[in-house]
Amino acid sequence: MGRQFFVGGNFKMNGTVKSIKEILDNLNNAKLDSNTEVVVAPPSLYLLLAREHLRKGLEVAAQNIFDKPSGAFTGEISADQLKDSGITWTILGHSERRVILQEDDQFVASKTKAALDSGLGVILCCGESLEQREAGKTIEVVTRQLKAVADKVKDWSKVVVAYEPIWAIGTGKVATTEQAQEVHKAIREWLKKEVSDEAAEKTRILYGGSVTEKNCKELAKQADIDGFLVGGASLKPAFVDIINANE
Ligand code: PEP
Repeated sequence: MGRQFFVGGNFKMNGTVKSIKEILDNLNNAKLDSNTEVVVAPPSLYLLLAREHLRKGLEVAAQNIFDKPSGAFTGEISADQLKDSGITWTILGHSERRVILQEDDQFVASKTKAALDSGLGVILCCGESLEQREAGKTIEVVTRQLKAVADKVKDWSKVVVAYEPIWAIGTGKVATTEQAQEVHKAIREWLKKEVSDEAAEKTRILYGGSVTEKNCKELAKQADIDGFLVGGASLKPAFVDIINANE
């Protein structure tokens, strides 16, 4: 059974009204593989602009949500508010939030549940640091991060997992195809054991970490790599080549 290829663009805290419109125009005017699901995640200030500016068929994601529906939570945005604004996805658990803002597994899991309960799709990030990899703890770390979610979420049909080794994010140091495939396979086996056969078969597992137009095709050929979460390169015209990596 085929899993639809999925490419997300994480703009992080980059862009202006002008530059974001240029990036979106580039996508609007490009010939994109119609078999690939495409989602872009601009900073929250530009989510509505992106939804209004992007052509139909291309979706918009937030980079984060809060786990409550509304209330006295200054600076936060809820899943319901995103839904209300036509935003259909959110990234959660990105390593920059886990490390810099000290989000723990439980908080990420609680936000994942809140997003899914509101009907959003979730790009759920996981991944190990260099120190953890060198200590042989990659699979242990990744499955611990996923287990916190599995304890709260039984239906994974709107979850896309993004494996993003921290040492490969924004560093230009991409995981080898073997390193990425090994972890993706382990995640799929874990899903089979801990969630369900169906989740293992159907959940898209993306690779993220210094993906470019140069390395994407080799990575896309791996059996358990179902797409990419792209940071830096999603701000460039070559993002189109990454979207089309599976053609
Ligand atoms: C990311 O932040 O999700 C990411 C993968 O970044 P980059 O592609 O720049 O390494």
